[in-house]
Amino acid sequence: MSITHGVHALVWTGGWSPEEARHAISSSAAAGYDLIELAAIDPAAFDSDLTARLLAEYGLKASASLGLDESTDVSSEDPEVVARGRARLAQALDLVRDVGGEILCGVIYSRLGKYAAPPTERGLANSQETIVWLADRAADSGIRLGLEFCNRYETNVINTVQQTLDYIAVVDRPNVVAHLDTYHMNIEEHSFTEAVRAAAAAGKLGYVHVGESHRGALGTGSVPWQEFFTALREVGYDGTVTFESFSSEVVHPTLSGSLAIWRNLWEDNVTLAKDALAFTREGLSGSASS
Ligand code: MN
Repeated sequence: MSITHGVHALVWTGGWSPEEARHAISSSAAAGYDLIELAAIDPAAFDSDLTARLLAEYGLKASASLGLDESTDVSSEDPEVVARGRARLAQALDLVRDVGGEILCGVIYSRLGKYAAPPTERGLANSQETIVWLADRAADSGIRLGLEFCNRYETNVINTVQQTLDYIAVVDRPNVVAHLDTYHMNIEEHSFTEAVRAAAAAGKLGYVHVGESHRGALGTGSVPWQEFFTALREVGYDGTVTFESFSSEVVHPTLSGSLAIWRNLWEDNVTLAKDALAFTREGLSGSASS
């Protein structure tokens, strides 16, 4: 089993100026990671040529994720909002392609934020039709789409792995996969083991975020890590596992607010990132004692 170990860009920086890009990419490589996940909330703001050059310089791979906002929510009933969402997603797809990435993931099927009602039938259909459209575009570049199901306060479209698999069955595209995140699963799933097994049995276990229950350092919250890592091992998962953590120490102008990052859970991101990688490697190797 050969896992690709990733780290989310927000561990290092909330922006992507040339200096911030070099800092994030060089720090990810120095901490021992194979991949950096770009926070492509505003994909048009990225210099993809510079990013590709820096990735090559430091021998790092990249993925990208984003969450849509109210004006680009593809689960809206308003065709103009959906059209803006598709334009944003197309930009994000171009970014992944131009930096040589293999997956675009995150909340690409919905707004990232709390809704006051369930999705409407038309809204859900708009979301699924958009993912079909995006998947076919992505297939032209050999790119997969990872649907990150989130806790109920961050989307109303898919909150569990089973809802995600049902959604993917409707979409019916081979390059659309489930993106599992332990932070969200810890809130919504009955069982980490069953969730991992269900995604794997469907052939749709495509991308993983390891995040602690409070979004801070791995192993210091209430996520059942041994159970989760054991399940990944038992199904033979050999894809990407990306460490995701947020603190008020590193702020993104919109993402930090959408995710409700109000407190400081760490200051030393170098130690945080190194410890998370060691923790994940140990867990996946099956040698963890607790
Ligand atoms: Mn996540």
